[in-house]
Amino acid sequence: MSGYKIHILVYLISILALVFLLKNYNLLELPMETMLLGILIGIPYSILPDIDLPSSVMRKFLGRISIATILVLLIAYLFLKNILLIYISISLALFLYFLWFSRHRGFFHSITAAILFSAPLFLIDTHIVGFALFGYLSHLTIDGKLSLF
Ligand SMILES: [Zn+2]
Repeated sequence: MSGYKIHILVYLISILALVFLLKNYNLLELPMETMLLGILIGIPYSILPDIDLPSSVMRKFLGRISIATILVLLIAYLFLKNILLIYISISLALFLYFLWFSRHRGFFHSITAAILFSAPLFLIDTHIVGFALFGYLSHLTIDGKLSLF
């Protein structure tokens, strides 16, 4: 098993090499801000697949953020009485429950999960999705788990 630092390091080296090559051959014409944002967003994606490992940095971080978010949403519901807050809380709780039973290097270590988790970034910028997908796939490549499911 590769540690999260290795995953981030390999991602950074390979994305910087790829961006340099594409820029050098004029195949990449993105604004510098978009490129930097993309490279930064790719970092958490390069360690996201290990969310299925209870001891991983990403699992601990997202677990805490999710629990804090659920608490904030429940408190907000007491004041706002918006049922959507309850639905989001239930969705987050179900996600945590699903994580509890997920097998390490199972679904989260698949190309399908890479596409599923990267796709929402289309709402921000279509180019950013490529960086996130690259980060996620670099993790799968290092783990030797480039399978569809
Ligand atoms: Zn992994």
